[in-house]
Amino acid sequence: MCIFCKIVNGELPVNPVRENDDFLAFHDINPKAPAHILVIPKVHVDSFNDVSPEMMAGMTGFIQEVAEAVGIKESGYRVITNVGHNGGQEVKHLHWHVLGGAKLSWGHFADADPKDFF
Ligand code: 5GP
Ligand code: ZN
Repeated sequence: MCIFCKIVNGELPVNPVRENDDFLAFHDINPKAPAHILVIPKVHVDSFNDVSPEMMAGMTGFIQEVAEAVGIKESGYRVITNVGHNGGQEVKHLHWHVLGGAKLSWGHFADADPKDFF
């Protein structure tokens, strides 16, 4: 069982933010911003590659509720899901990083020239 499934099952403790029947939000153990929340579906989905439009619809509203619950909805935030090897996905259970609480930096994501891809 993957670590996020263990969190859903209550086998690993987390600092929770919000949950409903389908989704769970909790604070990232290694925060990259003052607010860094992870949003996961309670059922195992490997990554964004496998999420259904129906699940996405539910997650969208849930992420909006999470942003409001932690007080970053108006000040702004970033929603990221890392997918696969090049995306830097370490935990193979779909999750959204919700980052905020300060002005986030933006820059180059790869040691490669963007114009070399397309
Ligand atoms: P990824 O690199 O897969 O997109 O992100 C995985 C995230 O999960 C990382 O930001 C990491 O800090 C977080 N994480 C990994 N294990 C745990 C854990 O046991 N508890 C919590 N709260 N976060 C975790
Ligand atoms: Zn899982």
